Amino acid sequence: MHALISLKFVLFPQGLALLAWLVVAVVSRWTQYKRDRQLHAQLTQELSYYGRLNHRHQRQFRDRVRAVVEDKEFIGRSIEVTPAMQNSLAASLVQLTFGLHLTTLAHFTRIIVYPDRYRSRIGQSDHVGEVNPGLRTIVVSWKRFCEDNHVTDDGRNLGLHEMAHALWFEDRTGNADLIRLDKRLMARWRELAKVEAARIHAGNSSLFRDYAGTNQEEFFAVAVEYFFEQPAEFRQALPELYATMAGLLKQDPANGV
Ligand SMILES: [Zn+2]
Repeated sequence: MHALISLKFVLFPQGLALLAWLVVAVVSRWTQYKRDRQLHAQLTQELSYYGRLNHRHQRQFRDRVRAVVEDKEFIGRSIEVTPAMQNSLAASLVQLTFGLHLTTLAHFTRIIVYPDRYRSRIGQSDHVGEVNPGLRTIVVSWKRFCEDNHVTDDGRNLGLHEMAHALWFEDRTGNADLIRLDKRLMARWRELAKVEAARIHAGNSSLFRDYAGTNQEEFFAVAVEYFFEQPAEFRQALPELYATMAGLLKQDPANGV
C-alpha cells in the first residue's frame, strides 16, 4: 500500500505534464494545418499559376511563401500590410524563382507598400513600384499590384516586374542565398535583348511595350511579365529569347511547366 501511494505521487505529475505536452502539440499541429489550408485557399483563389501546379509543387510553393514572409519586414505607408497581403507579395517572388533553388532574395530585407501611386525619392516623380538595392527595399503600390494580379494575360504584372528587378540585382550580389543564374545563358540573353531593344527603338517591337527599351534591367523585368502572362505569344514572337529565359528561370509556362 505504502509503495502504491509513493508511485502515484511520482507518476501523477509526470502524467499531467505528458498530457499537457500532448495537448499543446495537438493544438499547435492543428493551428499549423488550419493556416496551411487558409494559405492554400488564398493562393488558389488569387493565383492561376498556383492552381496549375500539382499537389507536391503546391506544397513546396506554400513552404516557400512562408519562408519569404518570415524573411522580410513588411512596412505599410498609410496602409496596414495584413498577413494575407504579405502572402500575396511573397507569392510573386516565389512564382518568379520557383524553378531555382530555394531563395528568398535575401539581399532585400524590406517590402514597403503604399496604397496607391507614391512620390519616389528617385527622380521625385510618381511611381507604382521600384527596387532599391542600396536600401535593400522592394516598393509597390498595393492598388496596382492587385489590379495587375487580377488580369493575368495582358503582359503587365507589377509584382513580377519588381521581383524580377530584385532577382536581377540579387544575381550580382554574390549572395549565397541565390545560386547564380547560368552565366552562359545570361550572356546569350543580353545579346538577344540588345537586338530586340534596337527593334523597339526603331518602332518595330515584336511584342514588348516600349518601356522594355529603357535599359537591360527594365528589359528583363518587362520580359518576365510577358514570360508569365503571355508565354505562348512570347514564344511565338521571340522563340530564342523565350527559350533563353526558360533556361535561366528553369520554368516553361508556355508548356505549362
Ligand atoms: Zn522597372
